[in-house]
Amino acid sequence: MGSDRTISDTENHQKDLDWIKVLFYIHVHVLMVCGLFMVFLEASILTTLFSIVLTVFGILGVTAGAHRLWAHQSYVAEPGLKVFLMLCQTLAGQGTIYDWVRVHRLHHKYFATEKDPFNPSRGFWYAHIKGLLKRPSATHEKLLNEVDMSDIEKDNVVMFQKKFYWLIFIIVSIVLPLNTPIEYWNENFFCTLFVAGALRYGLTQNFAWFIHSGSRLWGLQKDEKNPPDSNIVFFITKSYWPQYHYIAPWDYRTTEFGGYANGCTTAFIRIFAALGWAYNLKTIDSDGVRKALALSVETGKKLPDVLKEVAENQPLSDEHVLEPKKFL
Ligand SMILES: [Zn+2]
Repeated sequence: MGSDRTISDTENHQKDLDWIKVLFYIHVHVLMVCGLFMVFLEASILTTLFSIVLTVFGILGVTAGAHRLWAHQSYVAEPGLKVFLMLCQTLAGQGTIYDWVRVHRLHHKYFATEKDPFNPSRGFWYAHIKGLLKRPSATHEKLLNEVDMSDIEKDNVVMFQKKFYWLIFIIVSIVLPLNTPIEYWNENFFCTLFVAGALRYGLTQNFAWFIHSGSRLWGLQKDEKNPPDSNIVFFITKSYWPQYHYIAPWDYRTTEFGGYANGCTTAFIRIFAALGWAYNLKTIDSDGVRKALALSVETGKKLPDVLKEVAENQPLSDEHVLEPKKFL
């Protein structure tokens, strides 16, 4: 077998389960259930609120930070916002931003094929967690090394986090969450451990995993004419069409054009845009999509390429700009 042989589509399957990861996540989920009981039976309301705030920060670190800012460059952030998002992403405990971006770009590059580490065509659970529990195969490592990371390697905040990841993780995701309730409102050790530790960590993981599995659960599947009418997905993303993200991953809203794009992460980015900490938000409106569809038919170019071209030549409409003076 030469080193330049073609990578077989089935090879990526032949990865064994990483049993350390399996045991780790079994423990996390069992401890989460204990944490949930403690929320109702014993924990102080402050500990519960504190854990909710940390969970939201962790999710924003992954969605607004690792995903929309770094993996897709869907907007530009000032250094202060980048540092905040880096700390939030570290709090989430999903590994370094560098590794997260690399595997997510691989997921997009080979979406729904056997080379996709979270291949949704193998089912929801594979996309959500099973793909994550596999030991990386040689093929997977080779594909990861081919991912273009040149932009990320120039980002000082990402490279700083990569260098000092474990130190920052221990401080931000272990010491601060576990010390604060005990130190400031005399919470007992086990409530702190189960609620601010395990429950917060497990919830953050599961919400962040929906980035890879959401399209399987809520997206329009092959031969389906209507997307699932789910109020849960509307509550979380304000969108019924997660597949849009795979056609236009550079859109800062990650959801479809039209009036649904008011999800929590989108609102967060727009608030920071109003404060001047985020700018160059990339998106496209309904007219732009119509124009791209027509151009794609006329020129025979692929729709994702035409959508990107049209969006690049279209100024951001006023509806995406929250101006502080409107609220003063
Ligand atoms: Zn993405």
